[in-house]
This record gives sequence, structure tokens and C-alpha cells, in this order.
Amino acid sequence: MQTQDRKGEAVDLLIVGAGMVGLMLAAALRHTGLHIVLVERLAGQARLSLGRDCRVSAIVQGNVRILQRLGVWKYLEQDAGMMTSMRIWDGQEQGGMRFDASEIDEETLGYLLENRVLLDGLRQSLQESVDVELLCPESVQQVLWRRDGVQVQLAGGRVLETPLIVGADGANSWLRGQADIDVFQRDYGQQGIVANVSPRFSHQNTAFQRFLSTGPLAVLPMPDNMCSIVWSCTTAESERLLALSDAAFMDDLNEHLGGLCGGIVEVGQRAAFPLKAQLARHIVRHRLALIGDAAHSIHPLAGLGVNLGLRDAMVLAQEIVDARKFEEDWGELAVLNRYMKQRMPDVLLTMASMEALHQTFQAQLPAWVKLRGLGMKMMGNAGVVKQLLMKNTTGINLPVPHTIE
Ligand SMILES: Cc1cc2nc3c(=O)[nH]c(=O)nc-3n(C[C@H](O)[C@H](O)[C@H](O)COP(=O)(O)OP(=O)(O)OC[C@H]3O[C@@H](n4cnc5c(N)ncnc54)[C@H](O)[C@@H]3O)c2cc1C
Repeated sequence: MQTQDRKGEAVDLLIVGAGMVGLMLAAALRHTGLHIVLVERLAGQARLSLGRDCRVSAIVQGNVRILQRLGVWKYLEQDAGMMTSMRIWDGQEQGGMRFDASEIDEETLGYLLENRVLLDGLRQSLQESVDVELLCPESVQQVLWRRDGVQVQLAGGRVLETPLIVGADGANSWLRGQADIDVFQRDYGQQGIVANVSPRFSHQNTAFQRFLSTGPLAVLPMPDNMCSIVWSCTTAESERLLALSDAAFMDDLNEHLGGLCGGIVEVGQRAAFPLKAQLARHIVRHRLALIGDAAHSIHPLAGLGVNLGLRDAMVLAQEIVDARKFEEDWGELAVLNRYMKQRMPDVLLTMASMEALHQTFQAQLPAWVKLRGLGMKMMGNAGVVKQLLMKNTTGINLPVPHTIE
């Protein structure tokens, strides 16, 4: 796409999309002196459920550590719900698996945060810097790709020139489309119903996940003994569940959860989101990097989407800073390939694990169900293997920069 060739204002980095991942990239670079512009098209309001955002993210302990070292966690911690244990079971076998933070010598596996808290906290951290401009509501009208830089025309009329443009504009990335990058896609034909609920008794900082034949049902611990549910099911079932009265919905929920925490006694507004897995065919091009859901999105059954995106942001931030230190052009493909190469193993392994988990728990053949039960028992007793899995899932083992130097 072409735009008129007039010289614009020079900026060091342009980020399209100020969701959690775009903001994280800006937050990681906010003290480097780089002039960063973030363009966000929506001055959105959160959809509330029992007075809290119905969208919630589990941030694993490895990423909490990153947010702490970057000085962002102080804006989030007062509203974070601790998750010290996780219990997983299926519709068939009793028992299932349990993961406790103490098994990997940690105080917690991670924290639950409302998305609006994460967004607000990250935005607050940007106010520490005069070098970061957040333009909202604003959008990019035209992009001109050049060998030596990218020229961008904003809807508000400003024309910017930058060595690197970053697509952090989510799963339906507009910028990815402008760069003619296609995606590999897997549509699960499922929706994720989200809502906040109150259990009768304490959730004891435990995340519960029951794998039903129709999809996983997660109950996640929030502050003030509230829980967030993510109920993945077929589109038809989701339409049925959304149409139920609160009382009938809670009856269905309690039936599937088997009286968990004394039963769910209150449910807030429900919302549903389509579920698909997707991977961009290229996550970098000359002068373009994709991060977060613009690069890859996964089934929310392990709550790892934002977590992958935060790690993208950290690795890309470090590569930009290193390139600047060694007087390299950080929009060059050679630099961006370093970001891509570091991130692909984590992204591909996580995507493959989500697919394997989804297939394993969808299968209903009796022999498979028995095998699955046996597998869960073995994993529950697997000691070192279980610890390794927990350390990788919580991100505390992964080679990701914790500070930007
Ligand atoms: C039901 C459900 C539950 C989930 N639970 C978890 C969880 O517990 N833990 C977890 O880690 N992940 C979870 N995820 C995944 C997580 O929500 C996503 O991975 C995450 O939102 C990706 O963040 P992002 O910033 O990359 O994209 P987005 O959150 O989609 O943000 C993109 C931003 O770009 C803006 N934008 C879009 N187009 C433009 C444009 N053209 N110009 C300017 N701005 C634009 C949008 O307005 C938005 O603000 C869940 C997902 C679902 C569906």
C-alpha cells in the first residue's frame, strides 16, 4: 500500500495496538530514551461481571518476575489473585492431577488479573517516561514500506517515519494484512464463555480445570474469594448456556463442578469469545515484527496466550536495545530474525502442547479414557518430570530477559 511520499516526524519505534502485549513492549523500553509511539484504535470499556472485568488473565510466575524487575508489578499487585495450586480432572476418572507451587519451591504458580487491571497498570507505568506517546483513539491509515524505513499516515493526519513498526494488534491483525502475511489456522468450532462467579466457601487460591467431553471448564481464583470461569464448548452449547437464566446456568455449572467450594452461589454477566489457534506464516519481515496474538494465538485452556506475548515483547525489546548499542539498524531483517529464532521454540512447543492436551481430553473412546486416566496418575507421581513440566509452564525455566539492559 502506498502513501504520498512526504517526510514525516521521525520516531524510533511505532507499535500498532496497545493491548497487553503492545503496552508491555513499550513498558520494557520506557527508560531507554527511545522515542516510541503506540497507536490504539479503541478507548474501550471493560465488560463487567460482578463489578470486575469479565476478561481475566493468569500470569505465570516467570512472567510476574519479569514484571517485578521492570517495575510494573507495583501497579498490579494490589489487585492480583494468587494461584498456589491447580487441580485438573476429567469427566470420567476420579482423582486427576494436582500441581502445588511448593513442588517447585515457589510461593505461587502465578496470579490472576483482570485484563483492565493489566491494561491500566501498564499504561500507568508508561507515564514514568516522556519518550512514550500513547495515541488513543487513533489508527493507521496507510503504510509505505521502504528499504530504509516505514512511513505511516495516521487517521488524525500525523505522518511518522520509523525504522521498525510492530504489529501488536491482536489475532485479526490489520498490520499483518498490510504486509500480506497469511496465517495457519485451526478453528476449534468452540466458544469460550467467561463470567465472574462467587463460590460458597474459600477457593483456597486453587485453579480448577475440569475437562468435559465438550471442552475444558476452568474456575480461576480471584481476589475477595471471587472466581473467573472460562467454559469452552461448542458454539451451539455456548448459545444455549448464554440464553439460560442465572439460576439455570449455575445449576449446569454446579452439576459439572460437583459441588466444588460448596457450590457456585452467584454469577455475573456472561460473554463468549470464539476460540481458534493461529500462527502467522512469518512473524518478521524487513522493518516489521509481529508480537502477541498478531503472531500467534492459542486455545485458552492453559491460560498462556498473554504469557507468550509478554515473552515476545521482552525478547524483542532486548534485541532492539542490543542493536542500538552496537549501532545496528533494529528494523533490519538480520536483527529481527534474532527475535524470531529465540521465540519460535517456546511458541511452537506451547502450541503443540495445547493441541495435544485438547486432543487428549476430547477423545471419548473407552480405551483412550482409561489410558488418559493412567497417564494422569503417572504424571501426578512423576516427580522430576512433573517438576520440569511445571517449571516450563510457569516460565521460570525459560531463557527470557528479565530486565532490559
Ligand atoms: C476466553 C479467553 C481466556 C483467556 N485467558 C487467558 C489467560 O488466562 N492467560 C493468558 O495468558 N491468556 C489468556 N487468553 C489469551 C489472551 O487474551 C490473548 O493472548 C491476549 O489478549 C493477546 O494480547 P495482545 O495484546 O496480543 O492482543 P489483544 O488483546 O487482542 O490486543 C490488541 C489491541 O490492538 C488494538 N487494535 C486492533 N487493531 C488495531 C488497529 N488497526 N489499529 C490500532 N489498534 C488496533 C485492539 O483494540 C487491542 O487493544 C485468553 C483468551 C480468551 C479468548
